[in-house]
Amino acid sequence: MINKVLLLICDGLGDRPVPQLGDKTPLEAAATPNLDALAAQSQCGLLCALGRGVRPGSDVSHLAIMGYDPARDYPGRGPIEVAGLGIALEDGDIALRGNFGNVDDAGICRDRHCRHISDFRPYAAAVDGMEIDGVRFIVKPGTAHRAGVVLRGKGLSDAITDADPHKTDEHLHEVTPTDDSPEARRTAEVLRKFFVRAAGILRNHPQNLELQKAGKTPANFVLVRGAGRYRRLQPFRERWGLSAACVAGGGLYKGIGALLGMKVIDVPGATGKLDTDLDAKMRAAVAALEEHDFVFLHFKAADTQGEDGKWAEKKAFIERIDRALAPALTLPPTTLFIATADHSTPCILKAHSADPVPIIFRGESVRVDGVRSYGERSCAAGDLGLMAGLDVMPHIMNLMGRLPLIGA
Ligand code: ZN
Repeated sequence: MINKVLLLICDGLGDRPVPQLGDKTPLEAAATPNLDALAAQSQCGLLCALGRGVRPGSDVSHLAIMGYDPARDYPGRGPIEVAGLGIALEDGDIALRGNFGNVDDAGICRDRHCRHISDFRPYAAAVDGMEIDGVRFIVKPGTAHRAGVVLRGKGLSDAITDADPHKTDEHLHEVTPTDDSPEARRTAEVLRKFFVRAAGILRNHPQNLELQKAGKTPANFVLVRGAGRYRRLQPFRERWGLSAACVAGGGLYKGIGALLGMKVIDVPGATGKLDTDLDAKMRAAVAALEEHDFVFLHFKAADTQGEDGKWAEKKAFIERIDRALAPALTLPPTTLFIATADHSTPCILKAHSADPVPIIFRGESVRVDGVRSYGERSCAAGDLGLMAGLDVMPHIMNLMGRLPLIGA
């Protein structure tokens, strides 16, 4: 009987036919002997994480696949990203993600990333822990220029706008309430006070004074966005009875794992980018199965290539994924292996779409069907038809013999 689960989500894997690839998708055109062999041993189908005709964001799509209804359980992007930074959130916290960037004296955002700066941790440490009007500000560094900002205190709301103008050479946006509540007004006010105090500290920060001496742009502002109010979600283990681990490079995906109470495993070389070490991630995921019942493994970069419209690079990255998946073929039959995606990111759109993605289930006593290759159109002929994200965990529970009986 199946007693372990390895769930691989390849972000943005699905696509549409590309004329330069002979009207195949990047996945169909890629040489994927391992994925094809896995599909041939699997029960196959298609997945629309949020149902047909819905264009999913990555965060909500992952929540649905893990069995959490986004309509009820989605806390917003801020809390997910911030959870991924290792900040232990408390009920009622307002969490935002942000960048350390540069804003000039006229309030114009001149640099949203300050990529010439290698270490942003001193900035986060300098503005962490402030208390303003009974609100504690927790600031933790993320990867590169990124940071998480948490407001902890009474009477706060996430109904506020972003400060980040999302573009360079645009004026910083004033944070304003988006509803009439006193909580939203108070949150916007206290955040504006934080900006003033933080800017004062960063202006005189020794690392910035040195940068200015060298003629370089200092990072003098925390550009925040994506406010969300945290509330505790039922942990994955409690919901599904499976101890779980997460292997991911991108902060958002580590955040999903952290939010659901999974053990987030840091893998050296896992960057969530094109330079990531897929083999190391696969090794870490397989190793994590020793101590956990369920391992969520995330590969990011096919999505990034789709967003950039780079079909050749997307195809090449899929071939790298395929090579990294060789160990999946030697997993014991009692380990259920699932390979799917959160959504399609067609190169022609350079954006997420509602096109379904392949999903395969390989393990002991699954009903292997006639599908012989891993692709958008080949898997459409599979036994499972079109699944929704919220169908995935119940299907896993069924294959593990863990579903409760309805009726007598
Ligand atoms: Zn995605």
